[in-house]
Amino acid sequence: MTKTALPDHGVPWSDIEPRMREMGAGDVKWRDGRTGLYIFNAGPELEQVQKAAYAMFSAENGLGPAAFPSLAEMERQIVATGLALLSAPEGAAGGMTSGGTESIFMAVKTARDYLRSKGGPKSGLNIIIPSTAHPAFDKAGMIMDIEVRRIPVRDLLADVSAMEAAIDANTLMIVGSAPCFPFGLLDPIETLSEVALRRNVWLHVDACVGGYLAPFVRMNGTALAPFDFAVPGVLSISGDLHKYGYASKGASTVFFRSKDLHEHMGLDAGPWPLGRMVTPTLAGTRPGGAIAAAWAVMQYLGVDGYRAKQKLVTDAREKIEAGVKKLGFRVLGQPQLGIIAFTHDSVNPMNIYVQMYKRGWFTATLLEPPALHLMLSPKHNEVAHEYLADLEAALASANEGAGGKVAGYAG
Ligand SMILES: *Cc1c(COP(=O)(O)O)cnc(C)c1O
Repeated sequence: MTKTALPDHGVPWSDIEPRMREMGAGDVKWRDGRTGLYIFNAGPELEQVQKAAYAMFSAENGLGPAAFPSLAEMERQIVATGLALLSAPEGAAGGMTSGGTESIFMAVKTARDYLRSKGGPKSGLNIIIPSTAHPAFDKAGMIMDIEVRRIPVRDLLADVSAMEAAIDANTLMIVGSAPCFPFGLLDPIETLSEVALRRNVWLHVDACVGGYLAPFVRMNGTALAPFDFAVPGVLSISGDLHKYGYASKGASTVFFRSKDLHEHMGLDAGPWPLGRMVTPTLAGTRPGGAIAAAWAVMQYLGVDGYRAKQKLVTDAREKIEAGVKKLGFRVLGQPQLGIIAFTHDSVNPMNIYVQMYKRGWFTATLLEPPALHLMLSPKHNEVAHEYLADLEAALASANEGAGGKVAGYAG
C-alpha cells in the first residue's frame, strides 16, 4: 500500500508536536520581521491572544447561531465595529466571511441579485475594475458568468473617465481599491462615486487590505481622501480582519450601505431532506475559532491599541520610503498606508530582489512595472534599518553582478 499520512496506529501528541516543528523549520522566519507578504506581525502578545481565543472556539461552528449564540453575538459586535469604523449610515448591515475573496464574491453576488430584483438584465453582465484591482473580482466573474473589464490605471490610480467610458447598459458594478495591493494607493473613490451615481451603477470599495488600517491612520492624523461610506455612491465595502485587523486567518467582513442591499447576500438553497438551507454567505460550516479570535483581538487592542499598532506600520513605511529614496529608488505613487512599492531606473529590481532573498528577506515583486513590494507590519518598524542596510548592500551586488546597467532593462 502507498504510504499515506495516516499511520496504522495513532501517535502520541508528544511525538507529533516536534515533527510539526521540524516541518515548519523550512518556512519563512516571519517572526523576525523579514517577511513582507502573507503575514501581519503585531508581536508575540497579540499572537498569544489570537491562539488562545481560536483554541477556545475551534470546534464551534458559526453555521449554527442558535446553537452558538456566543459566536452570533461576537459576529454582531465585529460587524457593528467595522461599520462604525467605515462611516456607515444608520441602517447599514454586513457580515463575516472567510476572507477577502469570499467578501468580494458576496459583494458581486449581492449587487447582481439586487439588480435582478429591480428588473435589471439577467445575463451578459459586466463589472469594471481598475487594472490594479484584486484577482478575486475575476474569480467572482468566472463563477457567476460576469465579464470583468480591467481598465489600465492612469498615474497608478483608477482611471475614472476610462472606466466611465467602459460602462454600458449591462454594467453591474464599478470598483475602486482602498488601497490597491500592488502600490498601496487609494483610488479616487469620490470621483468614482460621482460616476456611479450619475450612471446608476453599484460602487464597491475593496478595502480588504485597508479597511482596518486606514481609519486608525486617519485618527493618527494623516489626511486620507474619503474612501468609505462617507462617500455617497459607495454601496459596499470589503475589509479583511485577517490583515490589518490582526485577526487569525479566515476572517473578513463585507458591508452594505443598507439592509435592503444586504438582504440579497444570503443564499436560500434546497430543498433537501432537512428542508431549505439558508446561509448568510457561501460557506456552510464557519470556523468558530476565526470569529472568536477576531473578536478577542478587537477587545485586546481597542481603539488606542489599533492606533498604536497602525502608527508602527506607517512609521516603518515612512522610514523605508525615506531610506529607499536616498538609495536612488523611485517610490511608485504616494503611499499613505502599509504597502510601498519602489523601482530603480538603472538596476533591475529583480536582481535586487534576488540579493535580498539571499539575505533572508521574503517579499513580493511587481512585474508591471518591475518593482520591489513591501506589505509592512508593526514588527517592521524594528527592522526597517536592517532592511535598508541590506538593500544598500543588495543594490551594490546587483549592480556589480550585472556590470552596471542591466542589459535589456529599460527601467
Ligand atoms: C488580500 C486582498 C484581497 C483578497 O483577500 P484574501 O483574504 O486573500 O482572499 C482582496 N483585495 C485586496 C486589495 C487584498 O489586499
